[in-house]
Amino acid sequence: MKWRIKPWVRDLAVYEPGRPIEEVAREFGLANPAALLKLASNENALGPSRKAVRAMKAAAGAMHRYPDGGAHYLRQALARRLGVAPEQIAVGHGSNELIALLGHVFLEPGAGIVMADRAFAVYRLVARLYQADVVAVPMRDFTHDLDAMLAAIRPETRIVFVANPNNPTGTTVAPRALDRFIERVPPETAIVLDEAYVELLPPRRQPDSLKYVREGRPVFVLRTFSKTYGLAGLRIGYAIAPEEGIAALNRVRQPFNVNAMALAAAEAALDDERHVARTRRMVARGLRQLEEGFRRLGLSWTPSEVNFVLVEVGRGRAVFEAMERLGVIVRPMDAYGLPAHIRITVGTPEENEKALAALEQALAAVERL
Ligand SMILES: *Cc1c(COP(=O)(O)O)cnc(C)c1O
Repeated sequence: MKWRIKPWVRDLAVYEPGRPIEEVAREFGLANPAALLKLASNENALGPSRKAVRAMKAAAGAMHRYPDGGAHYLRQALARRLGVAPEQIAVGHGSNELIALLGHVFLEPGAGIVMADRAFAVYRLVARLYQADVVAVPMRDFTHDLDAMLAAIRPETRIVFVANPNNPTGTTVAPRALDRFIERVPPETAIVLDEAYVELLPPRRQPDSLKYVREGRPVFVLRTFSKTYGLAGLRIGYAIAPEEGIAALNRVRQPFNVNAMALAAAEAALDDERHVARTRRMVARGLRQLEEGFRRLGLSWTPSEVNFVLVEVGRGRAVFEAMERLGVIVRPMDAYGLPAHIRITVGTPEENEKALAALEQALAAVERL
C-alpha cells in the first residue's frame, strides 16, 4: 500500500488484552469453550446483576432508537448517589474511551504525561497516539511513588495518571499521601484518578476522591461498570470532574458514544447494592483462598484488596502458556516489565481452586522444560 499512515500510528504498540475464551478454544480445537476458565481480565465472576439483565431484556425492543446521547437519567442517578452535580459527570464507552478523550482534550506533540511505570498500559498508548511524551516513574514496592511523580511533573505535563487501586499491582495509595499530592500538583496539570476497582474496597477503605471535585481541584475521577458491576461487555464508564473538564470531554466525544443497552443496564446495576456486596464478599474470600494456595506453593505475591492478584512464578510467560493448555487463562505480565509474574483474576471458590491446581501443575511442567 502507498498509504501514508502516520508514523507514530504505524509504530504504536498494540494493547494485548486478556485472551478471549473463544479465541483460545479455537486455537486448541475445543468444541466447548465453556471448558475454559478465563481469569485474565478482572471481570466479575458472579456475572452481571440480575436487575441489569432484566433491564436489558426490557430495553431490547427499543433498539431501533438512538440512545439518549446526554445519558440524562444515568447522570442524574450517579449525581444523586455521589453527591455531585449531573454537569460534573460524563459517560463514556468504557473508561478506556474517557482516557482517549482526555488525550484528545489535553495532548499534542510537545506535551507530556506522567504515570507510574507499572500502571495501566492504556495511558501510555493514548499518550503516544497524540505524540505526547511519557514519563514513567518507577514504583516503590509496587505502589505509586507520589513524591517522585510530583517531582517528575514539568511545565509541559498536561496529565498525571494515578490508578487507585492500580492494575496490575492491586495496590492503593494512602489517603493522606493523595491529599498532599493533589495539593501540590501545579494547577495547569490535570490529575486523573483512575478508580476502576474502587467499589471493591471495603467501604471504609474507599478514598474520598470526589471531595477533590467538589473543591474544584483539577481532577478527573474515572470509574467503570466493567469490573465491580460485571458489565464489561457493554462498555460503559464515567468521569467525575469540575464542570469545565466535563464540558471539554463533551466537546470531543461522539454524539452517541454510549449505547442504549449499556445505559439501561448501568442504571439498573447502580440500584443493586446487594450484587455489589456479594461481589465484595466473593473477592475477599477468593483473595484469602488464592493467598493460601500461593503460600502452599511457596510463591510470593503482592497483597491485593481487589479482584486480581499479581504473583511471582519465575517464568511468567511459560507458566501462562502451561496454564492455558490446562484450560485456565491468566495474564502474562511481560508487557508491564514483569516477566517473572502473572496476574490472576479472583473467581468463585471453585474457579480459584481450579486455577490453583492448574498453577501447581504448570509450575511443575515449566520446571521440567
Ligand atoms: C479495567 C480497567 C479500566 C477500564 O475499563 P473499561 O472497561 O474501559 O471501563 C480502566 N482502568 C483500569 C486501571 C482498569 O484496570
